[in-house]
Amino acid sequence: MPQVATVGSNASKIDYSIGGTVYPVPQDVKGSKVVYQNADGMRVDDGRYQNFKSDLKNELAIPEERIITDAVKTYAYGTDASFYRLLPQMVVKIHSEEEVKKILPYAKKHQTPVTFRAAGTSLSGQAVSDSVLLKLSHVGKNFRDYTVHEDGRKITLEPGLILGEVNRILQAHKKKGGHAVQYKMGPDPSSIDSCMVGGVVANNSSGMCCGVKQNTYHTLEDMRIVFVDGTVLDTADPASRESFLRTHQDLCAKVSNLAKKVQADADLTALIKKKFAIKCTTGYSINALVDNDANDPIEIIKRLMIGSEGTLGFVSRATYNTVVDHPHKASCFIMFKDVDDACKAAAVLRRETTVDAVEIFDKASLRQCEKHEKIMSLVPTIPEAGKYGAALLIECRGPTDAELDQNIKAVTTSLDNANLNFLHPREETYPFSKDPAVYGTYWDVRKGLIPMVGGGREAGTSVLIEDVACEVDSLAPMTKDLMAMFEKHGYDDASCMGHALEGNLHLVFSQGFRTEKEVETYAAMMQEMCEIVAVKYKGSLKAEHGTGRNVAPFVEMEWGTKAYEIMWELKEMFDPDYVLNPGVILNRDPDVHQKFLKPKPVADPIVDMCMECGFCESNCPSRDVSLTPRQRITVYREISRLQAMENRSTEDQARLDEFLDIFSYAGDSTCAADGMCEVKCPVGINTGTLVKSIRARELEQAKNVSSVAASLGRNFASFTGVVPPFLNMVSGFHSILGDGVLKTVSGGLNKISGNLIPEWNPHMPRGAPKLPEPNHAKEKHPGVERKVVYLPSCVTRMMGPSKADANLEGVADAMMSILSKADYEVVYPKGLSDQCCGMLFNSRGFKDTALTKAAQMEEALLEASENGKYPIVVDTSPCLAEIKGSLQNPALRFSLYEPAEFIANHLLDKLEFNKVKKHVAIHVPCSSKKLGVEQTFTKLAEKCAEEVTGSGIPCCGMAGDRGMRYPELTGGSLKYLDLPKGCTDGYSTSRTCEMSLTNHSDISFKGLVYLVDEATTAKKKASA
Ligand SMILES: Cc1cc2nc3c(=O)[nH]c(=O)nc-3n(C[C@H](O)[C@H](O)[C@H](O)COP(=O)(O)OP(=O)(O)OC[C@H]3O[C@@H](n4cnc5c(N)ncnc54)[C@H](O)[C@@H]3O)c2cc1C
Ligand code: SF4
Ligand code: SF4
Repeated sequence: MPQVATVGSNASKIDYSIGGTVYPVPQDVKGSKVVYQNADGMRVDDGRYQNFKSDLKNELAIPEERIITDAVKTYAYGTDASFYRLLPQMVVKIHSEEEVKKILPYAKKHQTPVTFRAAGTSLSGQAVSDSVLLKLSHVGKNFRDYTVHEDGRKITLEPGLILGEVNRILQAHKKKGGHAVQYKMGPDPSSIDSCMVGGVVANNSSGMCCGVKQNTYHTLEDMRIVFVDGTVLDTADPASRESFLRTHQDLCAKVSNLAKKVQADADLTALIKKKFAIKCTTGYSINALVDNDANDPIEIIKRLMIGSEGTLGFVSRATYNTVVDHPHKASCFIMFKDVDDACKAAAVLRRETTVDAVEIFDKASLRQCEKHEKIMSLVPTIPEAGKYGAALLIECRGPTDAELDQNIKAVTTSLDNANLNFLHPREETYPFSKDPAVYGTYWDVRKGLIPMVGGGREAGTSVLIEDVACEVDSLAPMTKDLMAMFEKHGYDDASCMGHALEGNLHLVFSQGFRTEKEVETYAAMMQEMCEIVAVKYKGSLKAEHGTGRNVAPFVEMEWGTKAYEIMWELKEMFDPDYVLNPGVILNRDPDVHQKFLKPKPVADPIVDMCMECGFCESNCPSRDVSLTPRQRITVYREISRLQAMENRSTEDQARLDEFLDIFSYAGDSTCAADGMCEVKCPVGINTGTLVKSIRARELEQAKNVSSVAASLGRNFASFTGVVPPFLNMVSGFHSILGDGVLKTVSGGLNKISGNLIPEWNPHMPRGAPKLPEPNHAKEKHPGVERKVVYLPSCVTRMMGPSKADANLEGVADAMMSILSKADYEVVYPKGLSDQCCGMLFNSRGFKDTALTKAAQMEEALLEASENGKYPIVVDTSPCLAEIKGSLQNPALRFSLYEPAEFIANHLLDKLEFNKVKKHVAIHVPCSSKKLGVEQTFTKLAEKCAEEVTGSGIPCCGMAGDRGMRYPELTGGSLKYLDLPKGCTDGYSTSRTCEMSLTNHSDISFKGLVYLVDEATTAKKKASA
């Protein structure tokens, strides 16, 4: 029998004190009284984890720094996007299939179960563990290989690639090869820009257009699997298949026999087919047992792995058949009088047309739409929806415009013939639009619905997303029953929306786990929901999010005992010792769904709305080095919980001290405060803002440091004056002493000074040359006056090119040269040598000095630009962003430009461009990305070079000089830099970022203005 123990029904006894996690029974998980059992909450270190760790280090040579056991990081990794938390005994960062192959038999030997972790965006509690987490994400270039086959119709992927990234790889492949058809991945979850291939396969994720036909189950061709005994099966390799059949005869025979048994059972076969005709990720993919020849166990195993949530094996490679991405699209947003009509419409469209996507919005979702200005201007009738009013967002696609028109026609004809009650006449009020700005708005709103509910909830609660499905013909009554259920249990904010075409609803609501009453209300609602969906409508309790722990107790309710026991049988065949993610998908504890709940203590308004979805993680430069934004918030929440305790026990005080101590480096010092997390955050959280506020609070307590900063701010000109000669002196030492001495000495000083003194690298700049005299226009031009305010940032005023680029002049010289070719009159702001945007101070938490410098700068810019009459170009993107962020006077709002934007907007018609380079790399600084300049930057570079490759790095981690003081930050971020051979030069618009990019690549990065200067000449006047 399974070793998963039945813990019993104890939901009423809740202990909030165990490691910041709501444990259902007051069990002494920290002490020695608990006996190890292979069940959630009962996995304690009775010596086995120490032994496992020692084998990892000594037998498998896994370096100590990849084995994480400290209280803070294990707590941080205990978080995924679900509302469960388990505290792992250990997190191991894995680097290769080979390591997994070796680790699994040791996990089996020590009976220390493992859970694989990709991006941790799972919602059902399948990516957490209180045993060992094997983390394949954020481990540099590991698990990120891929091969695109032919014209892109097939692609082989490692599990650490982000799904959206794969689609971009396919786009680049089409562009480069000039192929006719654009392919994309079939699965399209809304977490596409964060979730990873390993998770997508293991959860059998789907999405808005994917339906049941384009999910991994139906589009996967081959897979490489590591089994619990360390055997690797590559289903694409005949030798590997043959060998597996030989070495695993018993397993293969059991699989075949089970398939024969199921196929011989007509009722069970019919049930399986019926259930998988709609979206279903409850339990295992037992359709594999009926869809394949029972005598072909390898094919069956391959499909069984899909959706098995890491409980049957590790997926180390997957080959997908991609799907066609039609270029012609159109969408419409139709309001219905009643949700019944909307659901009926979805059923009609499914039956009669080949429509691509149909999404439903109930009244609660429509209420969220009312907050969105753009959609309100497109569909002003939204507020008119009654209590049961609803809307459908419908999308049609086609390979050509004519075929798109045909598809639209089919859809509108079906709708018009179906006797539906539209809120207003359909054709005039709710037309299809092919305008990307219009349909883009509809889809943006749809994608933002969950975050909108999440962002509006009460602090201290979680946003929960249930995910159910039924046959589309039953969608209307099921939706109404679920709405009544929410009303009965007092969930006023609950919304029912989702993929109507597939009968798939997402139920989004906020839920607190602060009191026993709240937990009881949740449990009662869940029980009723499962009965409505699984029993009354014979639907799926998890359509696409995976069973996890959330509906594990209800798998039998949904599938019936026969199918359920087959699932247990499968688990025992592949993993008889329950080493692989036990407790997930199948769990004998009937209350597991209401245990190990994650409290969300109120911490700081900046981050209280965090849903812990993890979307921000892949953008964070410190993700491989210390903590991710989600983890910073998680840890900070726990710190806040501990700090808020009135009477802390000695143990809690020790825990708080440890958390504060580790957070100081992992949370604070290694945060670049660049805010790249905000770019990906669905609720717009900038964790850097939290960190900056923590820094400011700390500095308040260290008044003398603040006064030094204020004094530096007042005497900024003296500071900027001494830096260039100092840099020249260091560069001189470099020439005499070589790399080694400077590196060793500065590395030592960096350590001794507690990371205050920057670590030197060979690409450190020389001092910047003196600023050039400002241009005067040579002639008068008709039209807009050619006059610009040029602000060379303090960085470019201090830092020149590196020793390797000795032939180059300063950034300001290149900029002035371009402006001169365009015949611009140039003005420098007054008192330039004393000017600073304030970033230098703000990023360190010196808020007051930052504000003073920013105000001083704004005044000078207002004067120089005559209140915004003339454009202002700032040669360093992060400084421009800082100025824009602190602007008080709206007059300058539209006058400020970073270099790429200014050149693209003002100079293109005044300069002649030549492609002077064959292949260059560009790195758009994070600040420019946030300002939306990425495309402009790329297009400009493409005018100067035949081929342009983006760095693919969200943020290099330099953050002023932080990357020099904590070189591991840039090192961690730039591990991902993967520039193709043949790339000769790199360009950016931030001198410090350029320096660190050069340090971590084989090419020299410098200012984009150098490239533009080299590639341009003054435009010749058209001859009369
Ligand atoms: C706001 C939000 C919206 C979402 N929208 C959707 C949606 O529209 N559709 C949808 O289907 N899902 C959605 N999800 C759920 C989730 O994003 C997907 O299931 C996603 O595919 C999980 O991928 P991951 O990389 O985060 O995997 P993880 O969460 O890290 O892991 C998922 C499971 O796979 C296992 N695993 C990971 N790697 C491997 C491997 N190499 N081998 C074997 N097992 C492995 C893990 O142990 C775990 O059980 C959403 C989530 C959020 C937070
Ligand atoms: S900060 Fe935003 S993106 Fe990151 S986990 Fe929280 S809600 Fe998700
Ligand atoms: S501000 Fe930057 S470094 Fe800090 S958490 Fe956000 S992305 Fe990471």
